Amino acid sequence: MNLNVGSTPVGRLAPSPTGLLHLGNAWSFLLAWLSCRSQSGRLILRIEDIDPVRSRARFSQQIIDDLQWLGVDWDEGPDQEGKNGPYVQSARKTFYAEAISRLQSGGDVYPCFCTRKDLKGLASAPHNDDVGPVYPGTCRHLSETDRERRIAKGDRYSLRFRVQDAVFLFRDQIYGEQRLLPSDFGGDFALLRSDGVVSYQLAVAIDDSLMGVSEVVRGRDLLFSTPRQLLLLRALGMPEPSCFMHVPLLLDSSGERLAKRHSSLSLVSLRTSGIRADEVIGFLAFLAGCNPSCSPLFARDLLRRFSRDSLPRRDCRLCPQIWSRFFPSVPCP
Ligand code: GLU
Repeated sequence: MNLNVGSTPVGRLAPSPTGLLHLGNAWSFLLAWLSCRSQSGRLILRIEDIDPVRSRARFSQQIIDDLQWLGVDWDEGPDQEGKNGPYVQSARKTFYAEAISRLQSGGDVYPCFCTRKDLKGLASAPHNDDVGPVYPGTCRHLSETDRERRIAKGDRYSLRFRVQDAVFLFRDQIYGEQRLLPSDFGGDFALLRSDGVVSYQLAVAIDDSLMGVSEVVRGRDLLFSTPRQLLLLRALGMPEPSCFMHVPLLLDSSGERLAKRHSSLSLVSLRTSGIRADEVIGFLAFLAGCNPSCSPLFARDLLRRFSRDSLPRRDCRLCPQIWSRFFPSVPCP
């Protein structure tokens, strides 16, 4: 069941308030905004603060300020209530609890008693870094009696989703047809941690569906999350987004992904060093293949120029020559 086929696209911006937005985040949010707005779509801002340890309210506010500074706007969000709220995941826990109990009744979930240490032991096996080690199914095969005995004994457990042993197919707008085996995306995956924290996969899948999101645009490090999220929605019989576009990542000049540790590349510090939003957007537009003249541009100027076809197909490594044309006062990371 696809959402919104043939009607106005609904996109989303889904930042996690675990730190300051950096240039790499600005890149994927700008592309999500452009893809949706260039089709006259509606956008939702959803704050993904499901992890209580890493999330901070002050980052949520800063993210809102940074996106506004960039000229990336939305129609519904924590600052602009609409019919799909609440827009902060920590306020949506009842939706997640209801989904988990439906999955439990359908037999799609089992308790997993593997400890962090057990799972860490798997990390030495070859695996995809974006996914983590493949879960070997240890607790999938426990007998009902063993499960009950361990629960009665007070052993801590998480809940895992049982992934069918079948090829999963979907189409990505950048990376094309995907034909994935469960082992490509980690096998059975966690829905609820033993400390009661809901997993990213569950929260995002439920929210995208309930909020009527038809188009998901995000970094390609989340490509292997798509089969997990779609499998969950199919098990629940819930509508699913119809369009997925995973975008290449920005890398520093040594080939490392841009991350929070590149603190000079946070939007806050670029702003503090006197960089303007149209300079940041001009640079990102150059990388997106829609600013060959390297001019400063505002986000709204890009709406007419944007095309998915001109986007790079590979991660973009920042190179000092290009960088210094845009940001001569900031050393190239
Ligand atoms: N909140 C996630 C992150 O910041 C992104 C989720 C998504 O786009 O699906 O990494």
